[in-house]
Amino acid sequence: MFVPLMYHLVDDRVEHPMSVPQDAFRRQLDWLGASGVTVLTVDRAVAALDNPGEVTEGVVLTFDDGYLNTVTTVREMLDERGLHAVMAVCGSYLDPATTPADIPHASREFASAQDVRDWLAAGHDVAGHSYTHPRLTTLDRRDLEAEVDLDLEAVEAATGRRPTTFCYPFGKADAAVREVVGQRYRHAFVTDGGSWPDPTHPLAMRRLEVRPAWDLGTFRAEVGRALEACRRQAPAATTRSS
Ligand SMILES: [Zn+2]
Repeated sequence: MFVPLMYHLVDDRVEHPMSVPQDAFRRQLDWLGASGVTVLTVDRAVAALDNPGEVTEGVVLTFDDGYLNTVTTVREMLDERGLHAVMAVCGSYLDPATTPADIPHASREFASAQDVRDWLAAGHDVAGHSYTHPRLTTLDRRDLEAEVDLDLEAVEAATGRRPTTFCYPFGKADAAVREVVGQRYRHAFVTDGGSWPDPTHPLAMRRLEVRPAWDLGTFRAEVGRALEACRRQAPAATTRSS
């Protein structure tokens, strides 16, 4: 039972609805540590989801799009605290030569293949996020499969590791997208419209989007509310003692 927190950038140089101020992020990490909310790796969190006998509660830190900012600023703050996160990577962004000219992001500074290898070596995780970040729900079956497969191949070629979780670009998935992703991944994250991580809905795990305007009080309230919603949703798993 865990709440996935969704971030994109933590970059004071970028003013954008998806860039959380560095000081706010630092306070959030310190509050998680001080309040005893466990920061789980995504591997541990989803393993617990598949094994109801294991009682695990906490949050998972997710960072979409594979920004350079994630492997520099964010990674430094995480490493200082011994915390881990998962970064959702678009395969085409690992190399400027394959990155499309027209992409829907606040920054074009992405992590390189070497950066992602270093990220993994430091104990962090990587997730799939499609090859070029299209709206998967608008694609025909062939293009949809190509987006998911090319991403998997690129990440695996760059890192030697095959991601086991997927973050839908724009957080959106329909039945066809879930089917294609579900043939390749066991777990996938949406932004809204899904349910909190639940063994019966592994391909539509909702995330809590952390917004730049949130002060610490709002962050605490939102995380607390989401954890409470998870507990209500999965009473059997949270009352069982291991
Ligand atoms: Zn994205």
